Amino acid sequence: MNEGPLEITRWCGTMPMHHRLLDAQPGYAEARTGIENEAFAWRRPRREAPVTIPVVVHVVWHQEADNVADEQIHSQIEVLNADFRMRGAGVDTVPEPFQALVADARLEFALADTGPDGAPTTGITRTRTDTAVFDADDTVKHAASGGADAWPADRYLNIWVCPLGGGLLGYAQFPGGAPETDGVVVNHRGFGTTGTATAPFDGGRTTVHEIGHWLNLRHIWGDDGEGCSGDDFVADTPNQGGPNRGRPEFPNISCDNAPHGDLFMNFMDYSDDAVTVMFTQGQTERMDACLAGPRGSFLAAPDEPVEPDDAEPVAA
Ligand SMILES: [Zn+2]
Repeated sequence: MNEGPLEITRWCGTMPMHHRLLDAQPGYAEARTGIENEAFAWRRPRREAPVTIPVVVHVVWHQEADNVADEQIHSQIEVLNADFRMRGAGVDTVPEPFQALVADARLEFALADTGPDGAPTTGITRTRTDTAVFDADDTVKHAASGGADAWPADRYLNIWVCPLGGGLLGYAQFPGGAPETDGVVVNHRGFGTTGTATAPFDGGRTTVHEIGHWLNLRHIWGDDGEGCSGDDFVADTPNQGGPNRGRPEFPNISCDNAPHGDLFMNFMDYSDDAVTVMFTQGQTERMDACLAGPRGSFLAAPDEPVEPDDAEPVAA
C-alpha cells in the first residue's frame, strides 16, 4: 500500500516559489500587484452559477508504485467536487461560532475530455522519469528536465503528481506567473484518498489547499512566521499566529483572537486532512475575483474587467 510511516509534514512550498518568482521572473511582481489590487477592489455579489474547471493530471513516476492508479486520481476529483461545493467530509464538524462563515466556492472540476490538439483524452498523462524525487523547483513541469510539459494554462488546470522530497506535500503557482509553470504540484502520497495516499494526508485536502493558492488564496495565518502582523487579505478569517498542525482542539487561541480562536479547520491552514473542511465567504469572494480576472478564461462568459476603485495598492 505504501512505504511505511510518512516522513512528511504538512508543508507547502507555494510561498518560497512566490518569492523566487518575485526575484527571478520579469513582470511577475507587477502582475501580482495588479491582481491583488483587483481582489482588494472586488465588490460584487457572489457568482451564482458553478464553474467547471477542466483538469489534466500529469503523473510523473520513477518507481512503478508511484504510478498512481486512475482510481486514486478519480478519488481526488471527487474530493474537489465536494470541498469546493461546501459538502466535503467533516463540514458538519465546524464549531458553531464559525458555521456562518462556511461558504460554497461554486467550483467543480472535471478531468479534461479534449486535449490541447482537439483529440479525445482521459485528462491523465503518464511520464516515466529518471528523477527519483522532485523538489519545489518546477523541474517536474518540463519534459526536458524529467517531467511533463504543461497543457495550455488558460484552458486547463495542470496538476502534477509525483514524489516530492524535503517533507514537501505540494506547491502551487499563484495567478500572474508564466503559463509553462502554471498549476499545482502534489506529492502522490498526499493525493486522493486511495492507493498511495497516506494518513494523515489521505483526505485529498493537500490538492484542495494548493488549488486555493492557484485561485489566489493565501495561507490563513498570513505567512509571517508565528507573528500576528501577517494578513491573508481576507476579512472574515480571524488573525492567527502561525500554522496549525495535527488536530487542534477548539478553541485554539492565538493573536488575541479569543474567544473562538484560530480557524484551524480552514483548508488554507496546515491541520490534518481530517480537520480541514471549509473555505470562508471572504475566501470564496477572493476566488470569484480571481476567476473574473486573471483566470477569466475559465468562465464561459467572462465578467467585465474589474476597475480598481480608490483601493490602496497592496504589496505583491
Ligand atoms: Zn500552502
